[in-house]
Amino acid sequence: MENLRNLLPEELEELLSELGEPRYRAKQVFKWLGRGIGDIDEMSDIPKSLREKLKENYTLYRPKVLSKQVSKLDGTIKYLWELSDGNAVETVVMSYKHGNTVCVSTQVGCRQGCAFCASTIGGLVRGLEAREILEEVMFSQLDSGRTISNIVLMGIGEPLDNFDNVVRFLKLVNSPDGMNIGMRHISLSTCGLTEMFDKLADLNLQLTLSVSLHAPDDETRSKIMPANHGRGVEQLMECCKRYYERTGRRISFEYIMIDGVNDTEYHAQLLAKRAKYVSAHVNLIPMNHVEESRFHPSTQGHIKAFVKVLEENGVNVTVRRKLGGDVDASCGQLRRKMQKDK
Ligand code: SAH
Repeated sequence: MENLRNLLPEELEELLSELGEPRYRAKQVFKWLGRGIGDIDEMSDIPKSLREKLKENYTLYRPKVLSKQVSKLDGTIKYLWELSDGNAVETVVMSYKHGNTVCVSTQVGCRQGCAFCASTIGGLVRGLEAREILEEVMFSQLDSGRTISNIVLMGIGEPLDNFDNVVRFLKLVNSPDGMNIGMRHISLSTCGLTEMFDKLADLNLQLTLSVSLHAPDDETRSKIMPANHGRGVEQLMECCKRYYERTGRRISFEYIMIDGVNDTEYHAQLLAKRAKYVSAHVNLIPMNHVEESRFHPSTQGHIKAFVKVLEENGVNVTVRRKLGGDVDASCGQLRRKMQKDK
């Protein structure tokens, strides 16, 4: 059975008009869906006869909290949700002065194989449906009581490897009658599936595209990111540049600082050149240690020296503040832990 929360407002309108319902009904139903109901019968002001008709082909689900950890350091909340088929994904809620940001997963597992990442260790199970990503946002807000103003697609999975569902999610969460979160408050992070960049640019969404670069040269990047094979940094830069020119939206480069791997002067100089070529902002990320990984975070000294080189070259650079250090910080770690406990 199809889940009713997957339908876009216009699809709901079409469905209900086929069922002979008045126009206003679609809005009424869509609003109910946004309130986080877990059963079609909870729509108390919708006629019973219509609810019965909907129940013939549609269902609803309310994800269960498998675990909820609240950081004592900064209030960051990490949820592990149980999905309708028994799989689990993680969502993180971070609070900043300017509002609350939710970090959502887009797949159960991941097949990109990045060497430093916990999410990819067990491979890909499946992509999330649009409504499952929406439910991460919706139920994090409902459970935490914190109004979500920003979304980052930086949890488990590769968003561009689940393109259609992710785009549908973006439309759902952006709907004025739904959560109404503006595209400019959304960042989509990718390991660089360049063949999808034009397809994304075609939609001309005003979101921020974050590219997980992590190395400015093929030798280093191919060692830590299998997605670089057959694509390469040069091609990635051309695709980034074209994306920026077509959408007018500045790209940001994510760059994890890994000790002795990508944090030398050589890497900093080349990264500066790349960033300037596509007018990208650089976001340096202190690496989170993953148990299974042979990599270690760069020292503070190396990070400082790296920032200095970028700044001297006129690159716009920030170092990400580490949040939720006491709650299995980086995404994929909590689900991974649960798998190991089984
Ligand atoms: N697949 C997408 C989005 C999910 S990963 C992507 O690759 O961008 C979100 C971000 O977390 C990416 O920049 C990823 O490289 C980073 N990340 C993965 N493992 C990490 C770790 N151990 N420490 C810090 N950041 C990590």
